[in-house]
Amino acid sequence: MRVELINTGSELLLGRVLNTHHHWLAQQLARAGYALAHQQTVPDTGDAIQSATREAIARAELVLVTGGLGPTGDDLTRQRIAELLDLPLEEHAETRDRITAHFKNRNRPLHKTILVQAQVPAGATVLRNDHGTAPGLALPTPRGWLILLPGPPRELRPMFTQAVAPLLAEKLPPENPITTRTLKTIGIGETTVEQRITPALTEWIAAGLEIGYCARAGEVDVRLTASGEGAADSIAQAEAIVREKLGAHIYGVDDEQLEEILIRKLTASGQTLAVAESCTGGLLAHRLTNVPGASAVFLAGHCTYSNVAKQNTLGVQPETLAEHGA
Ligand code: ATP
Repeated sequence: MRVELINTGSELLLGRVLNTHHHWLAQQLARAGYALAHQQTVPDTGDAIQSATREAIARAELVLVTGGLGPTGDDLTRQRIAELLDLPLEEHAETRDRITAHFKNRNRPLHKTILVQAQVPAGATVLRNDHGTAPGLALPTPRGWLILLPGPPRELRPMFTQAVAPLLAEKLPPENPITTRTLKTIGIGETTVEQRITPALTEWIAAGLEIGYCARAGEVDVRLTASGEGAADSIAQAEAIVREKLGAHIYGVDDEQLEEILIRKLTASGQTLAVAESCTGGLLAHRLTNVPGASAVFLAGHCTYSNVAKQNTLGVQPETLAEHGA
């Protein structure tokens, strides 16, 4: 099954907005067993959206298009896709009533143009938007499905999770589900990780296991991917081998963050933490306090940038600073 993503928005091409939909949707799709084969970003112009969609639905079973469903003149996705599929736009009464109530409840005037968002191509499955006005749309195509999603991330993400993922599972289940496990390591370099684990995984690699490495400051993620029948078993066995080879360097799995694990462990052991930082400018304290529940363990962060602050706040000896530098 071929899956393609089209992100619309001139602001993405101008570099004014970072395309987080690509990153987030690719991850969600992979988790649900769909590998994204192609992604493109096109400007807001109706012609660009229409021609990119025309080409994508001719070669892919699943096509997702993001953005351009709003009420303003530059939001052209809905009507240009209806035109492409030769479907008339019809008013969707439930959406019209929901939008009308949305404005009434907020005491805001309902301009006529807003209700353009209740116009949907005939036969579309309407994906309710609980965080905004424009609904998403799912449209059958000759090869499969075309899904239109609103641009704002806080609207797109819950809509994907609550409506699109279940719809895909029912209408277009993945042929060859992919299973992925990411093991997150710290304090070991990428090359050492590879040298330690690949010889032990030769058999699994020959059987189709893929290993990916992602190195960041101080950390290396090891991503194990397998597909088809028995994928979950191969991943579990490969994980056991990686754990044996990397031991305590593995601090977490999948989306877990180092700071979450740290706060969790300190909470469990009833210990507390304070940090003193210099050139990180409070970054450690920021990451730690972003974790829900951090207040149970995090006592204080001192951002001692100058030498005077290091001496006065932390009691660092002037001779130590003179001898070793900050
Ligand atoms: P609206 O009703 O807000 O007009 P829309 O469905 O028409 O929604 P857009 O106008 O294309 O969507 O985008 C609305 C906003 O959503 C953009 O200004 C941008 O901030 C954000 N956005 C759009 N696409 C992306 C993307 N790919 N990644 C991150 N943010 C995005």
